[in-house]
Amino acid sequence: MNDDAPVKRYSRPWLQARCRRDLHVHTAFCNHAEGSMAEYVTAGLAAGLDEIGFLAHVEKDIHNRRRSWLEPEQLDLYWAEGRRLQRQFDGRILITLGIELGLNPRAVDGLRQLVARHPWDRLGLSYHYLEEPPAHPARHRNICSARDTAAPGLTNAELVQLHLTYFDELRRHVPVFRPAFVCHLDVIRRYLPDVGERDDIRAAVHDLLATMARHGTALEINTSGYDHGGICPAPWIIQVAARFNLDFVFCSDSHHPRQVGRFFNQAVEDVLRAIGSKD
Ligand SMILES: [Zn+2]
Ligand SMILES: [Zn+2]
Repeated sequence: MNDDAPVKRYSRPWLQARCRRDLHVHTAFCNHAEGSMAEYVTAGLAAGLDEIGFLAHVEKDIHNRRRSWLEPEQLDLYWAEGRRLQRQFDGRILITLGIELGLNPRAVDGLRQLVARHPWDRLGLSYHYLEEPPAHPARHRNICSARDTAAPGLTNAELVQLHLTYFDELRRHVPVFRPAFVCHLDVIRRYLPDVGERDDIRAAVHDLLATMARHGTALEINTSGYDHGGICPAPWIIQVAARFNLDFVFCSDSHHPRQVGRFFNQAVEDVLRAIGSKD
């Protein structure tokens, strides 16, 4: 933990101030979201936001039937359009341009090259595509896809190992990529069968949060989780993150302009409840 960092109060006003920014929205560039960048900016203005943060999907050497990320030339178009909108909306709303970097431990150098392609405002680190167990680089399973996770064939032991791999690889790569925040930290629990709150998995989450604290990485409160049962990450993770004094950022993970800023008010209440705060 950084001893110089001020201790966060995690009060309602502190959290509400953070809700004036939505730092994780997608666009049609991502190949699975709807809406132009301009439509998202307009939605951000209508929602009264101070800042709208685009976070375009970037993946490298992923083998899956569907592409849900930007190829390098699309990243250039995304950057150019974002810069144009920054000029157009100057003084009305802050527009920031980032990438949601999908981890692939076998493609760190390639991912680094994509990070270096433009001077992004921020980097969010995600882990969407995990190799099929047993490790087979020819195929990746998208753990954020209901269809992919419904595929049969995982034993309980493999499920546990998949969870441990997920949290351990994120932890190992926080110092490598130094992200502003880790996206939807426990998304692996969204669709895959619940393997229970095992001690070894909780310990892996704990180690990841400790590493984030050491590197000044924030925790994303991802409100798209409300469409899948509740706040993301789980309340106990938010509680541990607060003990580590992590910063929190609110993100809608919008895939349609109408989702900008979704569920932020509800998330503030749920965060307060998770950390046991009364104000
Ligand atoms: Zn994601
Ligand atoms: Zn996303």
